[in-house]
Amino acid sequence: MLDPEFLKRLACPECKVVLRPEEGKLVCTRCGRRFPVRDGIPVLLLEEAELPAGGTQPAGGRRPERC
Ligand SMILES: [Zn+2]
Repeated sequence: MLDPEFLKRLACPECKVVLRPEEGKLVCTRCGRRFPVRDGIPVLLLEEAELPAGGTQPAGGRRPERC
């Protein structure tokens, strides 16, 4: 497992906030991107990150509700 002290030094390349370890991945606490950990090495690349499914999209915001 990843060293907590090591984790503290990692940050989302987009938001510069700390990452939360979750099921072998690192999750950004702000944008929700999930960065893979390969062979114990976190891959902090935006192009490698998975966006959250129910997504916090920076541009659309909340989906407008219709009657
Ligand atoms: Zn982020």
